[in-house]
Amino acid sequence: MSRQNPNIVITGTPGVGKTTHAEQLAQTLGFTHLSVNQIVKDEGFHEGRDEETGSWIVDEDKLLDHLESLPLIQTGGYILDWHACDLFPERWIDLVIVLRCDSTILYDRLTKRGYAGKKLEENMDSEIMQVLLEEARESYAEEVVVELRSDGAEDVEGNLGRVEEWVRGWRVDHGGEGEGGQK
Ligand code: ADP
Repeated sequence: MSRQNPNIVITGTPGVGKTTHAEQLAQTLGFTHLSVNQIVKDEGFHEGRDEETGSWIVDEDKLLDHLESLPLIQTGGYILDWHACDLFPERWIDLVIVLRCDSTILYDRLTKRGYAGKKLEENMDSEIMQVLLEEARESYAEEVVVELRSDGAEDVEGNLGRVEEWVRGWRVDHGGEGEGGQK
């Protein structure tokens, strides 16, 4: 069975704007926003927190089993928002958006969020070394991965327009009607 809507991953270093983009996109497209970090926390798909960084040590098998139990693969129309992307099977995903942010701006966002010390340093390094972009490029076909800037509000607006346009095109290519999409 083929999907009526695409599934989209929004990834990037913490603070780049994943939640901001995912929430707005889900609303305008009528898609379901899955905040993967929230699911890990709420469902207890972890083995506690890493002492140094404070991040969850994720039980990936449990997380994948849970995602697989959703109609995601069959129906599409999901936005997966997470600071990693390599664990989602390629066949689930139609577009991977890697958000990028200027390091000075990201530094301000993360310190405002209370990040300091090693956690701040590691995330800054990750953005500068484009770790998530490399991860996405290694895990998915070239044409599936797009890198978008998220420095200011005008970027969000432009990005949302671009993705909405892409979704319309996807629906047409996959036998839908473009607007509204489902046949
Ligand atoms: P993430 O989900 O990637 O951790 P968030 O969406 O929570 O990031 O954004 C972190 C903070 O930065 C929020 O306060 C958000 O409003 C702000 N922010 C994110 N992207 C932008 C942007 N492109 N322009 C202005 N502020 C942004």
